[in-house]
Amino acid sequence: MHFVFITGGVASSLGKGIASAALATLLKSRNFRVRIRKLDPYLNVDPGTMSPYQHGEVYVTDDGAETDLDLGHYERFTNQSAKQTDSISSGKIYSNVLSKERKGDYLGATIQVIPHVTNEIKSFINSDIKNEDIIIYEIGGTVGDIESLPFLEAIRQIRNNKKISSALIHMTYIPYLSSADELKTKPTQHSVKELLNAGIQPDIIMCRSERRIDIDSISKISLFCNVKKESVIPALNAKSIYEVPLLYSKYGLDSVLLKHLGYKSKNHKLNLKPWNDLLKKIDKQKQLVKIGIVGKYTNLKDSYKSLNEALIHGGIENSVEVEIKWINSEELNNNNLISKLKECDGVLVPGGFGSRGVKGKITAIKYARENNIPFFGICLGMQLAVIEISRNVLKIKNANSSEFDQKSKSVIGLMTEWTKGNKIEKRDKNSDKGGTMRLGSYKAILSKKSKIYSIYKKNEIFERHRHRYEVNKKYVSKFQNKGYYFSGMSPDGLLPEVLESTNHSWFIGVQFHPELKSRPLKPHPLFVSFIKYCRNEKNKS
Ligand code: GLN
Repeated sequence: MHFVFITGGVASSLGKGIASAALATLLKSRNFRVRIRKLDPYLNVDPGTMSPYQHGEVYVTDDGAETDLDLGHYERFTNQSAKQTDSISSGKIYSNVLSKERKGDYLGATIQVIPHVTNEIKSFINSDIKNEDIIIYEIGGTVGDIESLPFLEAIRQIRNNKKISSALIHMTYIPYLSSADELKTKPTQHSVKELLNAGIQPDIIMCRSERRIDIDSISKISLFCNVKKESVIPALNAKSIYEVPLLYSKYGLDSVLLKHLGYKSKNHKLNLKPWNDLLKKIDKQKQLVKIGIVGKYTNLKDSYKSLNEALIHGGIENSVEVEIKWINSEELNNNNLISKLKECDGVLVPGGFGSRGVKGKITAIKYARENNIPFFGICLGMQLAVIEISRNVLKIKNANSSEFDQKSKSVIGLMTEWTKGNKIEKRDKNSDKGGTMRLGSYKAILSKKSKIYSIYKKNEIFERHRHRYEVNKKYVSKFQNKGYYFSGMSPDGLLPEVLESTNHSWFIGVQFHPELKSRPLKPHPLFVSFIKYCRNEKNKS
């Protein structure tokens, strides 16, 4: 078993997450058992309460962990489900150390970063290991950040243990200076010095660059940073992120790493056929389909990372390119909003929290519903569709969610508002914030003959959830009489999971987050179907 650590230098946002995922893809394509885990330097205990504006989306695993969006990249590339134990933050490490201290586990010792915090990090790195051949650990942040120092120290200690086989890949940035017409390697040299200060010599340096890296720059990095020339791997921009594994392999990342770990590449043949086929499909995309995403975190595209990717996957499958039009539901008045929607072939209202921007989202849903424009509501998007139909079709005047207005008629509310059985209470997995968040994978039963059933082609599905509020079952029958119905329910029949319309081209709202399970090599059926209808409706008009 080998450890591969991936650190980053010079700048953040270099795409270390995608690099780690692409490396795992290459190793998996050579038949190794691989796993990727993430160590994040921030002091939040988990990203669950971090604003998507700052940190991008919160990715939820099957087992209900709220994690960093990089775990989404890992899952999409490796098609392996990540687990609760695949990520940890400094905050969680410190919180473990402090709770041990309170329990007296350290027998009165003075608690210090070395060895107590570093031991806790090492114990995470060594924990829950099954039969993997290679485990990749991505270290979040940039070398030189105060918060990442204990991680580097723990890695130094591990690498110092001669019984453990490991490799360290450092990803840096090579800027291009137009005035000198030159690529600059100095920031990389400094960043490697920073690592050396922590007692760590990298084995492989991956160089992100917007330009082709010339041989002189490679030689310079090799000389100044003590790595072989073949271990300086250019990491250039790709036209699709799904091309990245092939690009890295072309520059020898996987073969250099395997050599370092003591394997003979030729004994572990690389099979990238599924990825090559995917790229061929991407090249075949002809038509353009525009999807309007009406949300409030539209300024930071990473806030809807998985959604973005799932739509792209649906497009690839239908040979169309998906162009996303981000529509900020907070900024527009009704007329401007509708004129933006008119340019779109489909409307999607994604998940979200809080009342800001809700009005615009409801206007968008009404517009899509009344004009037969394919509509996809996800989590909050589904809840708002329920509210919109309650108000405008069922004429329940002040229908709302108790998340936004406690005094109105809650067609959406906390489960505990209308049911107090043990059965319901037991569903709630742990969350400090109210303890009512439904997190992770849950089963839903789909009614035969429904549209959603024809899409999934099965009546039992498992999808991931992340929400506190639910559709109030009391109102379910009222929808039925008006051409809308809940075609998916929780197995006990208490919680509506899917809303659809019987007289609309494609109008589906889901309480779960299907985008979290879409993979480029296994696109999610809901996104494939949604894009297909958007394309077909576009071609009709
Ligand atoms: N805010 C809603 C809830 O908590 C929806 C959450 C979401 O869209 N993920 O139920």
